[in-house]
Amino acid sequence: MAVLTPDALGPTVCVGEILVEIVATTIGEGFRAAQPLTGPYPSGAPAIFIDQCGRIGGSAAMIGAVGRDDFGAVNLDRLRRDGVDVSAVSEDADFPTGSAFVRYRADGSRDFVYNIATSAAARFGLSDAVRALIDRAGHLHVMGTALSMPAARSVIEYAAPRIRARGGSLSVDPNLRKELARDAETEVLFKRLIALSDLLLPSGDELERAAGITGQDAAITRLFEMGVKEIALKQGASGATVFTPDAKPVHHPGFRVEERDPTGAGDCFGGAYVACRRLGLSIPDALRYGNAAGARNVTVLGPMEGAGTRAELDAFIAKQEGSA
Ligand code: ATP
Ligand code: MG
Repeated sequence: MAVLTPDALGPTVCVGEILVEIVATTIGEGFRAAQPLTGPYPSGAPAIFIDQCGRIGGSAAMIGAVGRDDFGAVNLDRLRRDGVDVSAVSEDADFPTGSAFVRYRADGSRDFVYNIATSAAARFGLSDAVRALIDRAGHLHVMGTALSMPAARSVIEYAAPRIRARGGSLSVDPNLRKELARDAETEVLFKRLIALSDLLLPSGDELERAAGITGQDAAITRLFEMGVKEIALKQGASGATVFTPDAKPVHHPGFRVEERDPTGAGDCFGGAYVACRRLGLSIPDALRYGNAAGARNVTVLGPMEGAGTRAELDAFIAKQEGSA
């Protein structure tokens, strides 16, 4: 049986922060001095994920909120352009669209200044439009960053069992961020969602943190015992590896590109991988598209500016493999 439910059951739904991102154009430490900036770019990990999912041709829908301002329009226009159903994205008349300022350090790490909790991004809930979407959803993708928002937590807690009950599937990208602290209650929910998920998309030490155990092999074994059926481990420039309980791991070494802006790579990988699996592609084929989506996105400044259509990713792959 397929690990993820096909698109025919209903769209892949992602819940959480919709932001604009303002990017510092110089490398350095944070934002304590005036400096050149560029943006606004549409952003927010869940929004990047769902944008890539729709852009590659998957059935995709978003739950969240923007302000009734230009930053909100930047996001709604992009999501609509890429085929994402935004019927469950609300427009807040009183609060501005959420934002994230990001600046890279020389060692590649990032400093963020977020305005999420006190923005429109955090102000949504179980509206009629949100319930209606959940009632026709085929898959739920949970983005770890969203779990720091009470609004997203309550929608995800409502949606997960319902989408499951109608035969839908679930994926989780832990996406742990040092700037987004979590309380004990959220950790419990995170663990519960991991145990409910069919597909896990961790990177780095998120694999071990999701399993609650150290050592890669032990973590993978534990996650399969918990009921996870497929693990796509993202490995940055080294590509990604997919683990399943009954077969050998499948590795794709990743495409060689010049990295201009790593933000959004994991989200684009996930959006493409989930869409492809739901469209019936095999693990190796979905992995190739996931890697291509992540790699293509890092070549472009802006968190989702490099998200690719299937034709764009085919062209990217052909060029890469031709020149290898
Ligand atoms: P994020 O910081 O967006 O959460 P992540 O840590 O979840 O990212 P990464 O492993 O950094 O995920 O990137 C996801 C995928 O994107 C990788 O598995 C790889 O396929 C591709 N990718 C990322 N960086 C590069 C790179 N420099 N060169 C080629 N491919 C890359
Ligand atoms: Mg990530």
